[in-house]
Amino acid sequence: MSRRRKIYEGKAKILYEGPEPGTLVQFFKDDATAFNAKKHEIIDGKGVLNNRISEYVFENLNSIGVPTHFIKRINMREQLIKEVEIIPIEVVVRNIAAGSLSSRLGVEEGNVLPRSIIEFYYKNDELNDPIVSEEHITAFGWASPPEIDDMMALAIRVNDFLSGLFLGVGIQLVDFKIEFGRLYENDAMRVVLADEISPDSCRLWDINTKEKMDKDRFRQDLGGLLDNYREVARRLGIMNENEPTRGKGPVLVKSD
Ligand code: UDP
Repeated sequence: MSRRRKIYEGKAKILYEGPEPGTLVQFFKDDATAFNAKKHEIIDGKGVLNNRISEYVFENLNSIGVPTHFIKRINMREQLIKEVEIIPIEVVVRNIAAGSLSSRLGVEEGNVLPRSIIEFYYKNDELNDPIVSEEHITAFGWASPPEIDDMMALAIRVNDFLSGLFLGVGIQLVDFKIEFGRLYENDAMRVVLADEISPDSCRLWDINTKEKMDKDRFRQDLGGLLDNYREVARRLGIMNENEPTRGKGPVLVKSD
């Protein structure tokens, strides 16, 4: 592992040079960070769970025709991905008020939004990932108008797919963050989903108890992060109790 060339190291993942040109290896670390890395902890096994959950989500998205960077999972902590040029915008989709939307706009956490809301944040740690509008994105050349259209259309498809996937296992998809990249193939370029989709990047609430099953457990010092991530994986049918192997399929969780 250490002999491979490291391309980039982020807060929760490392990217290594891949086995073939145009590929990279994405390694999931156990680091949990929040508040722009001011809060930091190592949570043993988080990377393994996020790797599995993200694999499951990206595989399913690929299979319904949402283009992604994902090729295959290689081992417990690594996946093979296509090399893309990351667009420096975090796209957040919200279905229920929580987090920064609640604090910024005074909307009570838990209120179902009148419709799904898409927001853009400029990926820049020094500036604390500020919220930006399409005007900023196009004026500063971070993405073109057609790229913004692609990102929004894909974000809505991802939201529809994920909402249904989680609802089927008794989990409400409150909000999530996704990132996109430019994939250059032959002479063409297209926008594809990149990064990860895991309980680190989503807000997931148990539909009955409203228990938080995501990174808010770390942000808010609620404890039990790993148990909750494991429960998400178990309900999705991708991890049997203690055995890190593929299960038979989603576990139906009845709502009241
Ligand atoms: N999010 C993320 N990475 C970030 C910021 C947000 O994955 O750098 C996710 C977060 O987990 C939540 C959604 O994006 O699912 C919306 O986050 P919000 O804007 O409410 O920010 P927060 O409350 O986390 O500061």
